[in-house]
Amino acid sequence: MKADIKCVSTGQKIANDIGSVTFKCPQCGDYEIVRSEYARVIAAPYKCPKCSFEGPN
Ligand SMILES: [Zn+2]
Repeated sequence: MKADIKCVSTGQKIANDIGSVTFKCPQCGDYEIVRSEYARVIAAPYKCPKCSFEGPN
């Protein structure tokens, strides 16, 4: 359920966040990174729980 998807940076649910994005981890390509619009605005770092890749990139 999309309603349970949370931003990896802030832990905020993104169900109603139209500015949120999801994309595959650029390193392992396996984990789906979720970022809320807020996390993007403040350039909050994220970390892949699977391979420990960190970025905003
Ligand atoms: Zn990864």
